[in-house]
Amino acid sequence: MRVAVFGTKSYDRRFLEAANETFFFEARLDDTTVALAEGFPAICVFVNDLVDKTVILRLAQGGTRYVALRCAGYNNVDLKAAEEAGITVVRVPAYSPHAVAEFTIGLMLALDRQIHRAWARVRENNFALDGLIGRNLHERTVAVIGTGEIGALVARSLRLGFGCTVLASDPVLHEGLEDIGIRYMPVGEALACADIVTLHCPLTPDTRHIIDAAALASARDGLMVVNTSRGALIDTAALVEALKSRKVRGVALDVYEQEADLFFEDLSNEIVQDDLFQRLLTFPNVIVTGHQAFLTEEALSAIATTTLESLADAEAGRPLLHQIGRERLRPSKTSE
Ligand code: NAD
Repeated sequence: MRVAVFGTKSYDRRFLEAANETFFFEARLDDTTVALAEGFPAICVFVNDLVDKTVILRLAQGGTRYVALRCAGYNNVDLKAAEEAGITVVRVPAYSPHAVAEFTIGLMLALDRQIHRAWARVRENNFALDGLIGRNLHERTVAVIGTGEIGALVARSLRLGFGCTVLASDPVLHEGLEDIGIRYMPVGEALACADIVTLHCPLTPDTRHIIDAAALASARDGLMVVNTSRGALIDTAALVEALKSRKVRGVALDVYEQEADLFFEDLSNEIVQDDLFQRLLTFPNVIVTGHQAFLTEEALSAIATTTLESLADAEAGRPLLHQIGRERLRPSKTSE
């Protein structure tokens, strides 16, 4: 099947070009670039491509029948419009939860032990340790919001690897976590007790700004906030205020509300217009990475394999295992 890949980076090309009829476009998909998809039965998009109703209608007019997301989250796709237009949407539900979980733990450690600042100091031959005092992760209390594939791995690592007290919040209990001493509770209760909160739920109308001014106000003083899920889970303006007042002790973000205007591009010669984002970067106790938690060899390979298999299944008329809304139920998520 001929596939138009949008928002292509060199690493996408490297892993996806095994397929013969794959055409790569650097442009991100939106209403100004959708014309490129004309005549392609399938397109492949990533987290910041815009697949809203306007784009869906244009895709359908141009003959596109499949949208393959090379990611897990699908908050950038109007699924209702897609269904109405007869466009099937597939995704890669779990390409490497380990990639994201490990990066999350890495951010958590870097933030509290100030590894980012220590690295910069040593490069300047400044070997002084003043201002670099951290805290042990061992015996800290961590709230894990969302215990699906990624959150469960983070929770298990923190509990079994670091000896943390882990509080979990998720409407769906992940089998096995309670057996290792992880307690489920509502988000508000978890925040009131936690030293660190790490976010692993999807972005939905219910979870948008799940960390807002009220949530931060009710949290324990000195909370550290880690987000490798989706930027809009956090009200960034409220987070900046909480940093200024020192209510929040530190923040590590791999995702950002308005990242679509920034991430995945080299803007080093540009003037970034997002003042809120620029303010975030001025804090010594904030680490921001550009949505790279997924970026491992294993994850990219798994993404390419699953995406190409889904499209091959579609072409052959086989059932689609990863069609959004019709995915097969996960087997028990015990030991991942
Ligand atoms: P998953 O579907 O396995 O798990 C998500 C969990 O969140 C589910 O258990 C669900 O019940 C729970 N949830 C839903 N609403 C909730 C709420 N209101 N409160 C608490 N929990 C809630 O997904 P996953 O594979 O673990 O991925 C989690 C998120 O990580 C994805 O949604 C995606 O946005 C993000 N992600 C980021 C990267 C990255 O590179 N930074 C890569 C992959 C995924």
